[in-house]
Amino acid sequence: MVDSTPPTRRFRRERLEIMAVLPGSALPRLRVLLCAPRGFCAGVVRAIDAVERALQKYGPPVYVRHEIVGAIFVEELTQVPDGDRPVIFSAHGVPKSVPEEAANRKLFAIDATCPLVTKVHREAMVHAKRGREILLIGHTGHPETIGTMGQLPAGSVTLIETAEDARKIQPKNPEALAYVTQTTLSVDDTAEMVAILKERFPAITGPHKEDICYATTNRQEAVKNVAPQVEAMIVVGAPNSSNSQRLREVAERSGCRATALVQRADDIDWNVFGNVKSLGITAGASAPEVLVEEIIDAFAKRYDVEVDTYAGPQEDVFFPLPRELRDTAAE
Ligand code: SF4
Repeated sequence: MVDSTPPTRRFRRERLEIMAVLPGSALPRLRVLLCAPRGFCAGVVRAIDAVERALQKYGPPVYVRHEIVGAIFVEELTQVPDGDRPVIFSAHGVPKSVPEEAANRKLFAIDATCPLVTKVHREAMVHAKRGREILLIGHTGHPETIGTMGQLPAGSVTLIETAEDARKIQPKNPEALAYVTQTTLSVDDTAEMVAILKERFPAITGPHKEDICYATTNRQEAVKNVAPQVEAMIVVGAPNSSNSQRLREVAERSGCRATALVQRADDIDWNVFGNVKSLGITAGASAPEVLVEEIIDAFAKRYDVEVDTYAGPQEDVFFPLPRELRDTAAE
């Protein structure tokens, strides 16, 4: 599913409708390099489509457990009243206890968990069935981590957050050990942790194909290519978005002197970004393109902006809607 097309180093001039700058304008020049791919991934598109289709098919209200594109609907099923209203589980996935609770309460649940997260859930369950102790490389408290750990009884999965954790972990039986990972991690940090685990426990079993998803990998790759060519980088995304946070870190490590994760143009700190000559812009997997345009417009009010796009791997991943909604999609 990962697009392995090598990123080209060609740049494409964007024709964006940004504020026109009159010849002779006193505005300082700014070269903006847009990272591509950026923004929505196939899992988020599917979750958003699921909400739209559910509204179309069943009418409002539709409840969404957890967050889709920055809009928090409900955090727990206790906030969903009994009845036949659809409740949609977000792309992050949920612990097994959540669909169980929904079934007990006879709620109409629609699971929009990203298929690439479901793949990780399945891997963890197969390892458990084969008697392996499971390590999950991921971030404490992230909804995806909670969902993956919650596929198995409490205490079955040990979380590894850092290289230090990988160095210290003392499994009960190193011969029956496996690891899975969160889908939205830093590719480089994860590779380091996996290398440590493999060195310490050569018999450890890992995924056949990386758990870090194609969207996370491609967006980080694009940032790695753009960051050395710009002074500063803005990542459009929510502060609690793991893949967006990782993009900012990748930009920082790749040499940008200023980096920021912002949700809206109002979040831009002009003390930092008010005096740059080149700027990279990318967006996390749940950030809509309209917000990227808002950021460019904000810069165009202060600079004479020229926008180019770094053309990285093409993405053509598509996931069909949850089964309950497919007939609506066909209409
Ligand atoms: S970031 Fe990756 S795993 Fe998460 S929803 Fe998007 S495609 Fe799926």
